[in-house]
Amino acid sequence: MPTTTPTPGLDLDAIREFGPYLQYARDIRVDTGVEPDRLVKTHCCFCGQQCGMQLKVKGNTVVGVEPWYDFPFNRGMMCPKGIKRYLQQSHPDRLLHAYKKDPSAPSGFSEMPYDEAIRRVADEIDRIQREYGNDAFAILSGASLTTEKTYLMGKFAHMALKTANIDYNGRLCMVSAAAGNKKSFGVDRAANPWGDILGAEVVWISGANVAECAPITTNYVWQAREQGAKVIVADPRITPIARTCDLFLPVKPGRDTALFNGVLHLMIEHDWLDHDFIENHTVGFDAVAEEVSKWTPALTAEVTGVAEKSIQQAAEWWGQASTSFLMHARGIEHHSRGVQNVMSAINIVLASGRIGRENCGYGTITGQANGQGGREHGQKCDQLPGGRDLGNPEHRAYVAGVWGMDPDDLPQPGVDAYEIMRKAHSGEIKGLLSICFNPVVSLPDNNFVREALDKLEFFVAIDFFMSATSRYADVVLPGSLQEEDEGTVTQLEGRVIKINQVVDCPGEARRDWEIIQDIAKALGRERGLTFSGPREMFEELRIASKGYTNDYSGITWEGVEDNYGVFWPCPAETPEGVPLPGPQGTVRLFEPGSWNPIAKGAGPFYFPDGKARFNVTEYVGPTEDVDADYPVILTTGRVVSQFLSGNQTRRIGPLLDHYPEPKIEMHPRLAAKLGIRDGDWATAESRRGNCTLRASVVKTIRPDTVFIPYHWAGRKSANQLTISAQDPISKIPEYKVCAVRVSKAEAPPEYADQLQPQQ
Ligand code: SF4
Repeated sequence: MPTTTPTPGLDLDAIREFGPYLQYARDIRVDTGVEPDRLVKTHCCFCGQQCGMQLKVKGNTVVGVEPWYDFPFNRGMMCPKGIKRYLQQSHPDRLLHAYKKDPSAPSGFSEMPYDEAIRRVADEIDRIQREYGNDAFAILSGASLTTEKTYLMGKFAHMALKTANIDYNGRLCMVSAAAGNKKSFGVDRAANPWGDILGAEVVWISGANVAECAPITTNYVWQAREQGAKVIVADPRITPIARTCDLFLPVKPGRDTALFNGVLHLMIEHDWLDHDFIENHTVGFDAVAEEVSKWTPALTAEVTGVAEKSIQQAAEWWGQASTSFLMHARGIEHHSRGVQNVMSAINIVLASGRIGRENCGYGTITGQANGQGGREHGQKCDQLPGGRDLGNPEHRAYVAGVWGMDPDDLPQPGVDAYEIMRKAHSGEIKGLLSICFNPVVSLPDNNFVREALDKLEFFVAIDFFMSATSRYADVVLPGSLQEEDEGTVTQLEGRVIKINQVVDCPGEARRDWEIIQDIAKALGRERGLTFSGPREMFEELRIASKGYTNDYSGITWEGVEDNYGVFWPCPAETPEGVPLPGPQGTVRLFEPGSWNPIAKGAGPFYFPDGKARFNVTEYVGPTEDVDADYPVILTTGRVVSQFLSGNQTRRIGPLLDHYPEPKIEMHPRLAAKLGIRDGDWATAESRRGNCTLRASVVKTIRPDTVFIPYHWAGRKSANQLTISAQDPISKIPEYKVCAVRVSKAEAPPEYADQLQPQQ
């Protein structure tokens, strides 16, 4: 039965004080038309493409944005989010003080002095760890932080707090791609620079709403198309990029492995294979061939919902191409078999032999700003810097040596972000620090998440706006926006780039790394956490990453800017006779004859024998399929003008105006069956919760599926409905498929006349 949890989205007093309110150009402190004091070259704070841009600054206020035409990835192009991000810096909702929970205050919070807040946080961490053990205090960190901050968070958790329980919100984003890439290639990075898309004969896009979620990539796909490429899109929805493709495969949510297995079946049947590549550079092909032998076009069509002739056409184009590029995103990754889906996609790339060459490649589209760098240097629950493993004795010894500590004092691997919530709910975890993470909106089955947060003895959130999650905190510390600090991030191609500081933090807000170090100092555990700034952290990170897969040791602070970014791996040293990478690092992975620290010259892939792995990908359906009680598939995703939990973008007026409120998207056939018309209020209900939103009746979705964007909080949150089933390997939640029933609502929801669209 759905829960009867009180309606947390109707937290009207907190919303009245902290927003989200909308900011427009006319409202900011300085006229956006004034001549700026300076233009600062930096990058977007939102998605993983990390477009280069110049922020216009007057005094300590960001007043606008200009293109940065020279930055090679986007050449001045930006999407609506990048163009309007400047409106967040002078936003009236910006947190300028620390706050403490105060039931006597109308909003539930009252201001407290920063130093007093740090003291309180340190005392609570100390108390909880002494009473319940080190692991009873957990950390949830974020993949939009700079790489230096993510390194610091891992070091703070593992060295200062000695807790096993740190994880990050890339767990909701990139981990299936990461695990699949490691299992297939031995390394986790897009194999190619995006420039390789341009010369591909066939571009295959699976589960990626490119035009809305990675808009600049659209330009690469369209340039390829203008040069004659055939574009294949597999998706349950005819997304904007699908409207311009050559072949659309309307795959039923949760059936991607079946589709790729069916394509490989046809490649084998027609001998559209690169036998030399398979023989010399891979292992495991025979077992995979055996597995896909049953995936006839008829069976593939029956399971996936894609017509046989479309499957055959896709296999023929892909199989017969001489150059190609396959990309995917959360559409195939947000599943309880997300890693299987990724590996099945990679299997058709390996069978074609088209990787490690110009215009022949593969890439996963990163979601968050530092989705790549944020998953490399130690804030994942099982990881140490450089992509090293927390469970590997040699890796522990190396990093402990860099940090000047006994490896035995490092905790063992901890649990993933959702498991942290389960442990909080069961009482095993008593305290939590979160930064750059909004789990009340972003985790599935979020009524359970709210209950878990309520059970904590102490919760501290570091935030720049009062997010829906921070409203559950005992103490809120005012952190920094991206433009208030400097550092590096690694964008979706694997290119390390530099974020430049544009303005200073306002009020009592502090740069995030200063807050973490202040807490460590107040705890008396500041050893190793006395960095003077991001550059010093970066220099230590270079050493900590040296010699393993994600090697940054040869990347210099200046080199990053001088070369418009540097691709890792970029070792500072190689064995005699092995050339160092050029000033841009390793632009393309897996080139013939390339060297890596795992294969050591045996081959281009990152396994001891230098060979890529075909992995058997047995199709397993979704954890919760439709049935008589819940007969409709729910899938969730993004819209172009909003970003993730919306804590930033739901405060920017022009972005909210672009797509004011979440809607339940459904096909006219389903709508007619349910008696729902476009614009009616409709209720979607799963076994975990329900939400009532306006219906959007469109022909661009499968008739068996409804779609809800997940950027809204409270009673508008799609994640009240989603299921917390996770992939057994990557632990990614299954956001892309669960079962719901949909009905016409008898009346508008309670929130309709109480909340603004952004709230
Ligand atoms: S959100 Fe992504 S595509 Fe849009 S401007 Fe920012 S980095 Fe570029």
